[in-house]
Amino acid sequence: MNIDELLRGYDTGNLAIGTLASHSALQIMHGAKKEGFTTILVALRDRAWFYRDFDHLIDLIIEVNSWRDICKPEIVEELRGYNTILVPHGSFVEYVGLECGESINVPLFGTRSLLRVEADQKLKMLLLMKAGIPTPRVYELSDDVRGPVIVKLPGAKGGKGYFIASSNSEIEAKLRKYIEDGLLRSPREAIIQEYIVGVTAYFHYFYSPVLNRLELLGADIRYESDVDGLRRLPVGILEELGIDPTFTVVGNLPLVLRESLLPKIIEYGRRFVDASRGMVSPGVIGPFCLESVIDRELNVKVFEFSGRIVAGTNLYIDGSPYSYLYWDQPVSMGRRIAIEVRLALEKGLLEKIVT
Ligand code: AMP
Repeated sequence: MNIDELLRGYDTGNLAIGTLASHSALQIMHGAKKEGFTTILVALRDRAWFYRDFDHLIDLIIEVNSWRDICKPEIVEELRGYNTILVPHGSFVEYVGLECGESINVPLFGTRSLLRVEADQKLKMLLLMKAGIPTPRVYELSDDVRGPVIVKLPGAKGGKGYFIASSNSEIEAKLRKYIEDGLLRSPREAIIQEYIVGVTAYFHYFYSPVLNRLELLGADIRYESDVDGLRRLPVGILEELGIDPTFTVVGNLPLVLRESLLPKIIEYGRRFVDASRGMVSPGVIGPFCLESVIDRELNVKVFEFSGRIVAGTNLYIDGSPYSYLYWDQPVSMGRRIAIEVRLALEKGLLEKIVT
């Protein structure tokens, strides 16, 4: 597949911005409409009714029976027929599958090869380490674990099944149980990370190849069940009930950071952009998120990243305090993507922002 060739076949005066009807789709549609693009959603047949309520934002809904249908030749043809640039989001990575996501013959906003890194927990941590961004210590099963640690299951959705432990024997017993229950194939698949005591904070960045500028457009906190609910219970009861905390994301809460933390956070974002160039070509483009815990000494430790738009940006469809500083108008991440497409079009740099 040659994206430059695909772009040459496009009527760039009539571009459409498209995405899957899930995750941050409404925000992406809203932003694209604001910037004057045609908007297209690919929706599951039984969910399309919900998106029709927003038909003032969406010019066309293409209905499919399964997410993977987006890679069917007739859907790809249709998307290309409308000169579509597809915006990948969390559901794109999760539901469409890597094979289809990597090979779909439609220009993607952002860096296609980052999808593979995103799908591999070990590669992810490697990229963060190469960037020189502080991360929690990672343990092997053979290491002498000095807790607390958080044990993560591969491909877990929204933190389901994660647990906190403080010794090797505790980890081994729990993993054995997971294997018996069919949740895990081998203990080696689990990721054991130092548990950082502090508050979680997720930073929403946008790297613009057109302006050669990194913008911090917002931050959020994930609202997780039931870790965030447990503090409502008296401590003694927790032990009595024997509850294992889970980290299933339910929603997102807005966060404004101490201004004195901003230089460090922007510095980590810059390091991420630089390091990404050494790992994927041409490096990160557009939205990404560093996911951190900030401790009492204000150390920021990054335990995860997303190489695309995150759902926490849905908080700021009307702009965030930070995006307002850069743009002096309400700019969401979805709109920022559309602005980048418009700027790239104006400067004849479209090939710099799609892969
Ligand atoms: P993840 O799937 O890696 O995004 O983690 C899910 C949740 O687990 C996060 O939102 C945090 O609340 C928590 N978490 C993950 N890693 C750590 C860590 N190293 N220290 C403390 N909390 C963590």
